[in-house]
Amino acid sequence: MSVTIRTGRTIAALPRRPLFKALTRGWRGKCPACGEGRLFSAYLKVNDTCPACGEELFHHRADDAPPYITILLVGHLLVGLMLHLEMVWSIPPMVYLLTLVPLAVVLPLLLLPPIKGAIVGLQWANYMHGFDPDNKDD
Ligand SMILES: [Zn+2]
Repeated sequence: MSVTIRTGRTIAALPRRPLFKALTRGWRGKCPACGEGRLFSAYLKVNDTCPACGEELFHHRADDAPPYITILLVGHLLVGLMLHLEMVWSIPPMVYLLTLVPLAVVLPLLLLPPIKGAIVGLQWANYMHGFDPDNKDD
């Protein structure tokens, strides 16, 4: 089975990479290729290569996508929760300050690595950027 992608200069037939598996492996902080090696060497620093299989991971270009998606998710979750709580009960502002503000800080910090891992997995599975062997720009 092969997949055809457009690289800008050529169309190459490459073996299909499992998208869902790559997304879940990235979400768990594992290499999208083998699922064994650690994806991150630090909080959000992606390893240059997989320590288990040697897959080159430095090709990723996650850029602003992980923070954008994180803010989108956390914002909708917290605003929805706050609106729901206001419609059901009358909650003093200090309760919001003591509960939702810490959540607004902690949730993005917890979600950012898995979302970045999933973005790297997405790029790997779709041969995006330098993951495409025909792309000589990277
Ligand atoms: Zn690997």
